[in-house]
Amino acid sequence: MKTLLASGLLLAAMATGSAAEMVYAYKVGAMEVFTLVETRSTGGTGILVDGKGTRDAIKRYLPDGKFPMEINAFLVKNGEKNILIDTGFGGAIIDGMRGVGVEPEQVNTVLITHTHGDHIGGLSTGGAARFPNAELFLSQPEQVWGSGNAATVAALAPYAGRLRTFKPAAYDGDAVAVADGITAIAAFGHTPGHTVYLLASNGEKLLIGGDLFHVPAIQFPVPEVSVIYDSDPVAAAATRRQILEYVAREKIPVAGMHLHYPAIGTVEKNGDGFRWQAK
Ligand SMILES: [Zn+2]
Repeated sequence: MKTLLASGLLLAAMATGSAAEMVYAYKVGAMEVFTLVETRSTGGTGILVDGKGTRDAIKRYLPDGKFPMEINAFLVKNGEKNILIDTGFGGAIIDGMRGVGVEPEQVNTVLITHTHGDHIGGLSTGGAARFPNAELFLSQPEQVWGSGNAATVAALAPYAGRLRTFKPAAYDGDAVAVADGITAIAAFGHTPGHTVYLLASNGEKLLIGGDLFHVPAIQFPVPEVSVIYDSDPVAAAATRRQILEYVAREKIPVAGMHLHYPAIGTVEKNGDGFRWQAK
């Protein structure tokens, strides 16, 4: 469901066209969730791992080979708390946050799905924390993996002393809470510590699915097709199917960092695969 954006700036932008489409507002119970678009581009099938079934899937579901691709982050307003999930590169998403009344200094918590540059690139600017008052949450296996990467180490460095690492549980394991109403779920495969976050408030839910999906036209009907960015394409595919089964069964809406605007939708079972319906 859409909610009216309180910001006069955004309402003005909405009247004139595309600028407003950089932010989408959605409600999960008492939580306000905002899709913040960082960049938009057109993707190609060259990012798909050329494994069993890939060529057939392209022929059937994406014959022209092109799809809209975004980099998104998500902002959650929950009472007095502002929670940012991933950071993009710290460009347009910052304007988007400001447009809905949140300055970087007002972010209380940053939750990271994984340490690729398009997810943590906005953490720091000029060696300083862009979110100086935030606690930073990162899964322990991802922190271990990222500690071998100079860019990741540099991005995390300004958060020393307020970096919280945790061990996410499986979707059917003991829930690991990282903020009020938000739990972390292990979704390893895209990276060794890739984590998705489940929002729950007043009986409503939303799964922030990180990088489970890059090519929705193909990966919902055929979850076995992975992308070349997946550290472990086999594990990524197994995780994708497992989480899709879970959200389809529980009727939990899903958001994704590379899904097309508004990047939130519903999933239902369709034959051997799944059907994606954007909001
Ligand atoms: Zn990504």
